[in-house]
Amino acid sequence: MIERRFTRIQTELPGPKSAAVFERKAKYVAPALETFAPFIVARSEGALIEDLDGNKFLDFSGGWGCLAVGQRSESVVASLKDQLDAFLHTDFTAVPYAPLVDLAELLCAKTAIGGEKRAAFFNSGAEAVENAVKIARAYTKRKAVLVFENAFHGRTLLAMTMTHKAMPYKAGFGPFAPEVYRLPYPYEYRRTLTETELERSLLSLVDPSEVAVMVVEPIVGEGGFLVPPSWFLPALRRMADEYGFVLAFDEVQSGIGRTGTFFAFEQFGVEPDLVCTAKSLGSGLPLSGVVGKAEIMDAPIPSSIGGTYAGNPLACRAAIEVIKALGDQDLLARATHVGDRIKGGFSRLADRFDVIGDVRGLGAMVGMELVTDRATKEPAKEITGRIASAALRNGAIFPTAGLLGNVLRVLVALVITDEQIDEGLHILEAAFEEVLG
Ligand code: PLP
Repeated sequence: MIERRFTRIQTELPGPKSAAVFERKAKYVAPALETFAPFIVARSEGALIEDLDGNKFLDFSGGWGCLAVGQRSESVVASLKDQLDAFLHTDFTAVPYAPLVDLAELLCAKTAIGGEKRAAFFNSGAEAVENAVKIARAYTKRKAVLVFENAFHGRTLLAMTMTHKAMPYKAGFGPFAPEVYRLPYPYEYRRTLTETELERSLLSLVDPSEVAVMVVEPIVGEGGFLVPPSWFLPALRRMADEYGFVLAFDEVQSGIGRTGTFFAFEQFGVEPDLVCTAKSLGSGLPLSGVVGKAEIMDAPIPSSIGGTYAGNPLACRAAIEVIKALGDQDLLARATHVGDRIKGGFSRLADRFDVIGDVRGLGAMVGMELVTDRATKEPAKEITGRIASAALRNGAIFPTAGLLGNVLRVLVALVITDEQIDEGLHILEAAFEEVLG
């Protein structure tokens, strides 16, 4: 029996009002826009979601990791209202505005890269990644791009090419962009990889003097919530310096406080040349950015990067409040606390259920990998889906991840309370019991 203080399930899912919307969705919305939750949101606050039928859920997906400061944070909403009363859009390159400059200044100050820095803004994570590659190519005058196994970088042509998971992200969408080379990743639960092996792979794949940029997620997100061994990121820095290519970290998912530091890379004693950021930066408004060393950011010629809505004023205003809130509300420490509490809960579940092969993560970026057998590590994709679905029907949204589809992950709002975490963990435990008996 789940003791409920925050969640409430009072109808079948979907309830009648949600079902009516799903019926119209099936008729008018392209089916590739597949949906995870079996209900339609009516309103949301912090880490809670209420649907059209009055059911209430704890949302551990955080809008796929976009809501570090919580849904509709007070200061974000207040600054958006203020901006609505001023102006909506000019296109910064037509008529510039201060909020974009304010945000650039703040973001440069928060990014732990030494020396002079600059920022550029876009709309989505994929656009940030594509622009990091363009900037690196303009700077190095080289073409090749190095990426890793398990990577997810987005759905546009180059970002999709850089993404590893073919199903569903690449199915039927070729031909892909040229000059993208994939290196092995030290997925410690499943394989060992040494620095020497990694460098040998690089040298056998491509002439390193032709490499413009290496792009890596410091903590792998969609690909399974993988935390690299301590040698990994410093080794990439060494190779970038030795072979003269740009090192870009894709912190679209791991950044903006999620792991307990502003960017995750700060915890590995290494500095990239460029960082891609998005998701929680805009707190639900479409915004992404590339921040990095001025010398590199200055390489593209005027007007060669940008976009009509890039860094729109509403999104910039939201982002300024997000960055302030991380400091004012001490959300970095909160991320560590939230992560520890959830990891503790996951570890207790692992003591009860053999299907949990691994519990891992950094800060509040926590995941568990499910296997049918702890010795063979056979991925338990089907069971993972059934557990996520049982949790959803009981009031907690735990998304899945992983190249093999067998990881449950947490991208919750960092403002979630301890009591809400505990209720979510109880719901998840009940889902394990329901599916595994
Ligand atoms: N890079 C990483 C690490 C991501 O996790 C994502 C999205 O999940 C992207 C890039 C793409 O971001 P978007 O969906 O905003 O294009």
